[in-house]
Amino acid sequence: MYDVIIIGAGASGLMAAATAASKGARVALLEHKDDIGKKILATGNGRCNFTNTDMSVNKFHGSKALIKNGLSQFNYADTIRFFKELGIPAYDNAGYIYPNSRQAASVVAAFRMELMRLHVDVKTGISITEIKTAGITTKDTKSVANPATNKKTDDLTGYCIQTDKGSFKSKRLIIACGLTASPKLGSDGSLFRQIEALGHHIQKPLPALCGFSCDGLNFKKITGVRCDATVASVIDGQMTEQNTGELQLADYGISGIPVFQISSLMSRALDKGQRVKVIIDFLPAFSDDELNGYIKDRSITTTDKRSLNEMLNGLLNNKLLLELIHKSGVSPDKKGRLLTDDDCKSLTRSIKHTAVSVKKPRGAEFAQVCAGGIYTKEIDVRTLESKIHPGLYFCGELLDVDGICGGYNLQWAWTSGYIAGEMQ
Ligand SMILES: Cc1cc2nc3c(=O)[nH]c(=O)nc-3n(C[C@H](O)[C@H](O)[C@H](O)COP(=O)(O)OP(=O)(O)OC[C@H]3O[C@@H](n4cnc5c(N)ncnc54)[C@H](O)[C@@H]3O)c2cc1C
Repeated sequence: MYDVIIIGAGASGLMAAATAASKGARVALLEHKDDIGKKILATGNGRCNFTNTDMSVNKFHGSKALIKNGLSQFNYADTIRFFKELGIPAYDNAGYIYPNSRQAASVVAAFRMELMRLHVDVKTGISITEIKTAGITTKDTKSVANPATNKKTDDLTGYCIQTDKGSFKSKRLIIACGLTASPKLGSDGSLFRQIEALGHHIQKPLPALCGFSCDGLNFKKITGVRCDATVASVIDGQMTEQNTGELQLADYGISGIPVFQISSLMSRALDKGQRVKVIIDFLPAFSDDELNGYIKDRSITTTDKRSLNEMLNGLLNNKLLLELIHKSGVSPDKKGRLLTDDDCKSLTRSIKHTAVSVKKPRGAEFAQVCAGGIYTKEIDVRTLESKIHPGLYFCGELLDVDGICGGYNLQWAWTSGYIAGEMQ
């Protein structure tokens, strides 16, 4: 009999295992992939942006109660200290924190060594077939007080996890299986049926850090173009969020960090059937007046026969420029020196205020994070314990919290993993 079994050896499960074991609990960590921490290795382009020093609640979507309670117990400074104690100094890039090695593999290796030191039983490549709550109690086992809380476990019903490699019993159970973002890294929703069999309900996972299929530009012609842009989401006519950064244009629509930063609310809105648009400013470095003045000036000073397209050469990526000229309604072959005031205004509008209609998020297989998860009303937001089954805890992305890019999602995994691992 283990004190606690943790299902899922991703970021939150690893943190839960290290926390519980460091408090003296006998821990088993069950993972269905052939190794621990597969998703961590992919984070931050292999560099693992593991937290951020600007940890405000507004960087997150989902349950504010969970985020506030969580961060009040384990914040970015605790994360930095935790990894420092595991031998990983932090590298601070304008508040974005990475391991000093800039290698996500260092983080996984540090957990591997820590779990070994703490005698955690790590079982990988295991397939869970059933989670049972009935039939075992801890009454007849030697109960150990948790040194952190001095709370005895006699009153708990235990858990029996049936797998293809036998069954494992524990007094407590922590589920850290993630949602369905990037399922090839392990979070494939395969445990949802068992979670629901325990009486819990899971809000539909929605891709939250992801690109979107859009209409409104000929995306096939501009696929592969990357440019600095400001993107602003408009949901049912209301401007909602905006972000500036490197926009990536693809044959299906838009992607890249600025799109990721506004994606959670757009995904939720599309799921509710709301109308979603993105207004793209392809030249955020120019104001409308500056761009209008620039185009007029180029027109006045152009004395040869060059076309509008040739006249604006160098202002933007040439494929993108041509597409935006088309969208403005001005012919790209029109002589640059013959532009009218209205032409200049149309071009400015097209370059700085192109609206694309957002159809759907790309699938979860391309998403870094999913929104949704266990309904918050079913858990104690302070301890992350189930309100249905005593001794059952949830952590990580499986809870209804998702952050923007920048170390926020891993911080939530560390925060919630720590709280679940404390088993208050
Ligand atoms: C490409 C990419 C880059 C990212 N970069 C960053 C970044 O730089 N910074 C940041 O903050 N966030 C980043 N994220 C997001 C971050 O990685 C996740 O939010 C975080 O890893 C979630 O941790 P988790 O423990 O909740 O879930 P996961 O990491 O998904 O772990 C869940 C674990 O449970 C296991 N599991 C699932 N089902 C079962 C089952 N039935 N039986 C047994 N085991 C099971 C899975 O195999 C997996 O190991 C990135 C995500 C991706 C995909």
